[in-house]
Amino acid sequence: MTTTNTEELSEKKSLNFVEELVTADLAAGKNDGRLQTRFPPEPNGYLHIGHAKAICMDFGIAQKYGGVCNLRLDDTNPVKEDTEYVEAIKEDIQWLGFKWGNIYHASDYFQQLWDFAIRLIEEGKAYVDEQTSEEIAIQKGTPTQAGTPSPYRDRPIEENLELFKKMNSGEAEEGSMVLRAKIDMASPNMHFRDPIIYRIINKEHHRTGNKWKAYPMYDFAHGQSDYFEGVTHSICTLEFVPHRPLYDYFIDELKQGKDLADHRPRQIEFNRLNLTYTVMSKRKLLALVKEGLVNGWDDPRMPTLCGYRRRGYSPEAIRKFIDMIGYTKFDALNDFAMLEAAVREDLNQRATRVSAVLNPVKLIITNYPEGQTEELEAINNPENLSEGSHTIEFSRELWIEREDFMENAPKKYFRLTPGNEVRLKNAYIVKCTGCKKDENGNVCEVYCEYDPASKSGLPGADRKVKGTLHWLSCNHCLPAEVRLYDRLFSVENPSADERDFRELLNPDSLKVLTNCYVEKFLTTKHPLDYLQFQRIGYFTMDKDSTADHLIFNRTVGLKDTWSKINK
Ligand code: ATP
Ligand code: MG
Repeated sequence: MTTTNTEELSEKKSLNFVEELVTADLAAGKNDGRLQTRFPPEPNGYLHIGHAKAICMDFGIAQKYGGVCNLRLDDTNPVKEDTEYVEAIKEDIQWLGFKWGNIYHASDYFQQLWDFAIRLIEEGKAYVDEQTSEEIAIQKGTPTQAGTPSPYRDRPIEENLELFKKMNSGEAEEGSMVLRAKIDMASPNMHFRDPIIYRIINKEHHRTGNKWKAYPMYDFAHGQSDYFEGVTHSICTLEFVPHRPLYDYFIDELKQGKDLADHRPRQIEFNRLNLTYTVMSKRKLLALVKEGLVNGWDDPRMPTLCGYRRRGYSPEAIRKFIDMIGYTKFDALNDFAMLEAAVREDLNQRATRVSAVLNPVKLIITNYPEGQTEELEAINNPENLSEGSHTIEFSRELWIEREDFMENAPKKYFRLTPGNEVRLKNAYIVKCTGCKKDENGNVCEVYCEYDPASKSGLPGADRKVKGTLHWLSCNHCLPAEVRLYDRLFSVENPSADERDFRELLNPDSLKVLTNCYVEKFLTTKHPLDYLQFQRIGYFTMDKDSTADHLIFNRTVGLKDTWSKINK
C-alpha cells in the first residue's frame, strides 16, 4: 500500500504509544520485519467489553501494519475452563469484525513446558515444596522485607525429580505439593520470590483429557507460549507490568544455549477498560449468571459482548467507543454514558425507523370515516434514503402514548391537549377536542378532528404545528412485549465499593412492558436488526421473540436522560 507524504504525516500524529513502539521496531528491521501478536483469553467465561479493548489492539495493530494476530486459548486450569467458552470467544471475536491467523492453545505446549520444568529441576533452579499454600504465602515476606526460604528449598535434585513426576502421575494429592522456581527470596519484585510454577489439578482437561495432573501456572505458561509461537509484540494490560521481568527470566532460561539472535517478544502494557455502573471481573460476572441474578451471559444488561449484541449494540459502535477512549498507561474509569453516546451515533446511521406505542391510550378521530383505511408511506431511514420506505396503515382509531395527552397542560406543552393541534407523523394535523375517563378518573379515550387538507406530502400541506406524534392504527398493529434496560448496578464504581457486589445491583435494571403495540411491518424483522422506535429510542428484536409473541429490547434511549436525573 502506498501513501502520500502528507497522509503519512497526519497519520503519524495520531499514533498511540503502542503503535509508535511497533512502527519503530518495524522501521528498525527488528524480527526481520515480522509483526505477530496474539489475543490470549482464558476460556473460563464469556468475553466482555474490556476484552474488546484488548482485541481491537491485538488484532487491529496486526491488521494495520501487515502482521498477523493469533488467537491463543490460555487453557491451563481445567477447573474453570470449558469448550462452551471457547466457542463463545470465537463467535465474539468474529462478530467484532476480526480474523485470527491461527488458533493455538497453551495446552499445546504442556509437553514442552514439562520438559523445561524438568530441565530447571536438573539445573537446581526449581524444587518441589510440600508446604501448604498458606505457609508459602506467609513466607513470601513484604515488598520491604525479605521472604523466608522454604525448608524444602535445598532438597536433592533426584528427590525433586521424583516428586515432580508424582505430581503428574496421580500419586501425589491435589494441594499436597507444588513446584517452585528457585530464584530469589529477597528480590524487591515479589514475583521473583520462588514463584509457584506447577500445581496438581485432578480434573479432566477439555483438550488433553487425563494426560496431565500437573498444570503450569500463568507465569510459567504465558511468556513461553508467546515465545514458542514467535510472537514479536506481546501486548497486555497494566497489571502485568510487575510480571514482566519474570516473563523475561523464564524466556532467557529457556533460550539457554540457543541462537542469541532469537529475540524474546517485546512486552507492552496498556490501561484496562473499566466502565461505570458495571463490573468487569469474570469471577463476578460468572456469579451473576450462576446465581440467577441475570438471565445468562447474554442478558442485555451484562457488559459481555454477547449481552451487548443481544441488546442491539453494533460491533461498529463498540469499536468506535474503544477508539474514543484510546490506549494509555493510566488506569481510568470510563463513563458508560460515553459508550451509549457511541451506540446512539452509530445506530442513527443504521436503524430502520418504525412506530411503536409503549404505554397506549386510544385516540379517536371523530370526523374520519368509519371503516376507511389509508396506506401511508414511512421512510425507513432518513439518514440513508436508499433504504426505501414501507407502508403504514392509518384509520379512525389509533394508539398514541398516554404521555402525549394531558387534559390540563401547562403553556409549553406542544402535544395533545384540548384545543391544541399536532401533526400525526406521516399523516394529518389533528386538533384535540376532549377525552373520556373511566370510573377511576383515568383517561381511556382521547378525541380529535383531522384536517383532510393537511395530509403529509400534499401540496400546501406544510402548515406548521409545534408537535409531531407517533401513532399506530388499532386495527393494523400487533401487540408486543418491550424490555427496558437500565444500569446493572446502582453505584458508579461497584468494584471500589466495600459492600458485596450483589447488594449494589440496580433493582430497576429491567422493566418489562407487556401492553405495547408495534407496526405489522416488524414481523419482517429479525433478532439483531437495528430499529428506532421513533421518538423513543433504539431497539432490537430479542432472540426469544416469536410470531405470536413479539419481544423487543431497548438498546438505548434517544437522549441521555439518565445522567441528568442522577447527578
Ligand atoms: P480474569 O477476570 O479471569 O482475571 P481477564 O479479564 O484477565 O480474566 P483473560 O481471559 O485473562 O481475562 O484476558 C485476555 C486478555 O484480555 C488479556 O490480555 C487481558 O489483558 C485482556 N483484558 C482483560 N480484561 C480487560 C480489560 N478490562 N481491559 C482491557 N483488556 C482486558
Ligand atoms: Mg487473566
